[in-house]
Order: sequence, then C-alpha cells, then structure tokens
Amino acid sequence: MAKIGINIATGSLQQAEMIVGIDLGTTNSLVAIIHPETKKPVALKEHGTSSLVPSIIHFDDYGNASVGEEAKQYLETEPQNTIFSAKRLMGKSYNDVKNNANFFTYKVIDDNTDSLVKVQVGNQFYSPIELSSFILKELKQRAEHILKTPVTKAVITVPAYFNDSQRQATRDAGKLAGLDVLRIVNEPTAASLAYGLGLEKDDERTIAVYDLGGGTFDVSILKITNGIFEVLSTNGDTYLGGDDFDRLIIQHWLQEKGLTEEELHKDKQLAQTLRLIAEEAKKHLSSNEVFEYTLTSLIPNSLHLTTNDLRLSITDFNALIAPLIDKTITSCADALKDAELTTADIDTIVMVGGSTRVPAVRNAVSAFFGKEVNDSVNPDEVVALGAAIQADVLAGNNKDFLLLDITPLSLGLETMGGLMDVLIPRNSKIPTKVGRQYTTYKDGQSGMRISVFQGERDLVKDNRRLAEFNLTGIPGMPAGLPKVEVNFLINADGILVVTAKELRSGVEQSIEVKPQYGLTDAEVEQMLLDSITHAKSDIQTRALVEARTEGEQILTVTEKFLTKNAQHISKDEMLATAQAMQALQLAVTMEDKNLIQTKTEELNEVTRPFAERAMDAAISGAMKGKNIME
Ligand code: ADP
Ligand code: MG
Repeated sequence: MAKIGINIATGSLQQAEMIVGIDLGTTNSLVAIIHPETKKPVALKEHGTSSLVPSIIHFDDYGNASVGEEAKQYLETEPQNTIFSAKRLMGKSYNDVKNNANFFTYKVIDDNTDSLVKVQVGNQFYSPIELSSFILKELKQRAEHILKTPVTKAVITVPAYFNDSQRQATRDAGKLAGLDVLRIVNEPTAASLAYGLGLEKDDERTIAVYDLGGGTFDVSILKITNGIFEVLSTNGDTYLGGDDFDRLIIQHWLQEKGLTEEELHKDKQLAQTLRLIAEEAKKHLSSNEVFEYTLTSLIPNSLHLTTNDLRLSITDFNALIAPLIDKTITSCADALKDAELTTADIDTIVMVGGSTRVPAVRNAVSAFFGKEVNDSVNPDEVVALGAAIQADVLAGNNKDFLLLDITPLSLGLETMGGLMDVLIPRNSKIPTKVGRQYTTYKDGQSGMRISVFQGERDLVKDNRRLAEFNLTGIPGMPAGLPKVEVNFLINADGILVVTAKELRSGVEQSIEVKPQYGLTDAEVEQMLLDSITHAKSDIQTRALVEARTEGEQILTVTEKFLTKNAQHISKDEMLATAQAMQALQLAVTMEDKNLIQTKTEELNEVTRPFAERAMDAAISGAMKGKNIME
C-alpha cells in the first residue's frame, strides 16, 4: 500500500512515510489513514472486527499487559488489575484527582501529592504515560499488521481543554510507544476536518462541536477563517457520558425489583453481565422503540433476577437520561457565552462520540441550536478520520493549517491582601499580550514581588502558583509614585513570559514560565467548578480584603500627613483624628467589611477639612491605584 521510491543519488530504496491519525480516547481508541487509492480517510480494522479498541489495559499475575476487548472482560471481575480511563490521569498529580478517587477501582498512589500520579498493579507502578503507551503500542501494532509496513509517525488528538502538561504527556506516551508524534491536534478540530470543514480556502464559519463519549462530555466553539482553526471557547463535564446512561438503566431495573446496588455488587459476575446488557439495551434503543432481553438462558445470579425483568422502553429511557442531557445543553449555553456568541451565530453543528447516537441527545442539541446537526460521519470514528486528514497534510499531500489555541484558565498576579488580579482571562486566544500598571504600597519601597498565578478564584491561595520573581532596584520614591508596568505575553507555543518594568527609572526584570509537570496540572474542569461553587464567598472575601487594604492605606497616609503638617492642625482636630484612627485600627483586625468601611469613612470625615487644606499631589497619588506586596 505504501509508496516505494528510489533515491537516484544513492540507489537506496525509499519508502513514502505513512503517517497515521490516532484518536486516543478515554473509552475507545482507534487509528485511521488516508486510503492511498480513494484518498478518503478510513478507520483501520481487521476483517470482521470493530475499528474501536477499548482503552483498557489488563495486567496478569506476571505483569503481562493485554489491551482492548480482551482486557475489558476483566473490568468487573478483576478491577484492581484492569486499568480504564488512564487518559483522565494524564499530566495529573494526586491532588488533582483526589476528589474523584472513588471513580478509580484500581490503585492510584497517593503518597506524594504534588508529583505525577502513579498506578499500582500488584507490585508494579505505572505512570499514566506508560499506561497510555500500552494502548498506543497496540494501535501501532494493529496498523502495521493491517498495512504491512512499519508505522513510526502519528498525529494524536487531545481534548481542546487539555493543558500543556497533558499535551506533553500525550506526546511522551507516543514516544514511549515508538511513535514520532508530529502533531497534537484538538479533537473538535479533527472532527470538523472529517466533515471537510475548513478545507476550502475561503470557507469561513463558526462551528459548535458537541462530543459525548463514554465518560466525558465537552463542547467547543470553533471559528474557521482561511483554513485557520481557532478555538473560541470550550465547556463540558469530565464526569458525564454514556457510561452514566448505562448506570441509570441498571438502577432502573434494580428499582423495579426493589433491589439495591450494594446487593448487586456482592455478585461481581452478575454486575458485569448487567453492565453489558444495559449498554446493549441503550444501543438497541438508538434505533428501536423497546428493548427486551431475548436470550433464553437465565442469567446465573444470586438475586434471582430473570430475563423478563430486563425490559426498557424508549420513553422510560429518555426520562432517565433527560437530566443529563439538560446538563450538556447548559454547557453549550455557557460555551456560547464565553465565546460571546448566540445560537444564531453558529453555522454548523458537528456531533462526536458514540453517545450522540442516542436520538434524544441529537434532538436536544438540534433544538437548542435551532438547526440540523451533522451526524453523517460515524461519531466513534470521526475524530480519528480527521486526525488522518491532518496527518496527510503533514505528509505534504495537502495544504497546511494553522491551529490557534486558547488558555484554559485565567492568568494573573497577586495584589495586596492575596487577591488575584487577572491579566489574561480564560479562553483568551493565544498568542496574546496584556499589560497593566501597578504601584508601591510603602514609601521608599525598593522591591516588588511579582507572583504569577493560574485559576478562577478570587484569592491566589486557591489558585495555582506558576512563578515568582522580584523586581529590585526601584529608586526610593513615596508610595504610589513608581509606575511598574507588568506585561504578560503568551507566545504561539503556549509559553508565558512575564516582564515587569519601573517606568520612571527603567528598572526591568522578566521571567519565562514554562509549562511543567506537577506545576500546571490541577484539573482544569475542577478548578472551574470550584470557582463557581465558591463564587459567593470569594466575592465576600475580596470585598473584605479590599476594605481592609484601603483602611490600612488611609491609616498610613493619615499618620504621615499628621507628622508632616502638625503645625497646620488644631489640637481638637488632632484629638478627633487620633480617636478615629484608633477605631479604624481596631476595625481592620476584624472580619466585618461594613465596620471597616464605616470607620474609614469616619476618619475621612474628620480629616477632610484640614486634608483639603494641605493635601499634596504625591499623597493623593498614594491613595489611588493598585498595590503589589513588597
Ligand atoms: P470516548 O471518546 O470517551 O473514548 P466514544 O466516543 O468511543 O468514547 O463513546 C463511547 C460511548 O458511546 C459508550 O458509552 C458507548 O456505550 C456509547 N455508544 C456506542 N454506540 C452507541 C449507540 N449505538 N447508542 C448509544 N450509545 C452508544
Ligand atoms: Mg472521543
């Protein structure tokens, strides 16, 4: 199948490179290529089998790994030796996944919370990169077997919301499997390519890609102009997918019989059987009105369930999953909001993932956007097919595309009182550059600490610290006078460069923030979720911190003013000021924002008459503007 050429200079045989496209999925993975004759993308499969390889690895007692359908059989019976959803652990530390620790039925090591997670099977330890490499090796072998040629180059897809360390981990997994990963492509971009979107030079459109897989859901808003794909926003739920539909079906059946899940899980074999039957029922209902378990043999089990119990109508199924579908539609609305668009701005909707075969899902998405959806390409294969198209582009058989990216989380720095001051909001396109001016808090302050954070919370302590440096050598000036300009620049490779410059003196400092393992790998989704959950208390804390900072500043300024201008102030004024200052000093030690504000106001009231007489420009400057800690 592969082309063979002869190098005229050396006389040696040259083989045209076959670059494959790989969808490394949470639930299923597969390989696709551009067919050398038809020039159309095709998913590779051995005769009479599925193109999908379940992303599951089973280890036997000797540590030998099996991958795919074979490994899937051990899911319920040997949960501790059977690794599923390894993709969820890519580029993560234990801290990042501990809230979902129950999800993993195998052992995720929790001793060193900030370094990358490991999985323990027997007495062996595996990193998520190694685990993913087992799946990639299997895919590579399959492709070589089918194509009868070595496969060493690949394009691999990742979710649009993957951060740098997750992307790097995916690359490393490829390398470990003996693959040269030529490019990491966003899944929604690949899916759009498979529909031929963006392949025409003057094609300009806005696309919503709705991807509902086995365990995850995401929606991406893309904009294509001149063959350039730009991700405008992403949203979703990393713990919502078709597996949840299966679970609801099982619960429904158990409920009908008055049985509990605990009872079921005492009989592992039955649990495994029911799991498979539930999935079968769900798939059956994608093209039928009712599911009836027809096998005549009784299910061997301890709960005396009979096959007569395993019946489900499409109406009942739709009612079961309606709340989950609603959740995905809310995410679609949020993604549109982040992209500052409405449903009317979406030209094309692309359906991805096995679970979009459920008619109720398709109908809900179509109703929300008010348009027909694109579902003619097999939703299990569409991402891999698009990856193959991208691979073909890289092989030089097609024109190239530029892929722009977005920042998944906000970037900012720490200001007085530990507040997060966002310079680059999440979902910003990169490359990008943002600058902002800051000033000093104390007279004669010669240094400023620039601490860079990533996240959505109002207090930096709840976000992720990326880097820190000191701007030193600021010449002595009264507080508020220095003008420090901080610039955040993210280049096309996603590397952030932070510079700080004192504009009056020209003192300058900069730092490069390279994406690093264990540093930038808290779960993006979780952080976004936290920022919503804590939004109210964050706003309150921010208000308190701001009131306190302002109160403290007024105290400093007043004190300075008093010593400098004592001769202009009457004794009564001095006394009243001292009392008001004392009251404010006490108030700032307390947790009451309103009290601090009242006392600040009262001090202002007392000092206003004489302050107005003598306040000079430098001091008024000190009362304005944001301050960074010394
Ligand atoms: P992932 O991208 O997470 O690897 P997939 O896109 O392969 O996942 O989707 C797998 C999910 O799709 C599973 O939950 C599977 O049961 C579901 N699925 C596959 N075919 C159908 C169908 N015909 N009807 C409903 N769900 C289906
Ligand atoms: Mg997928």
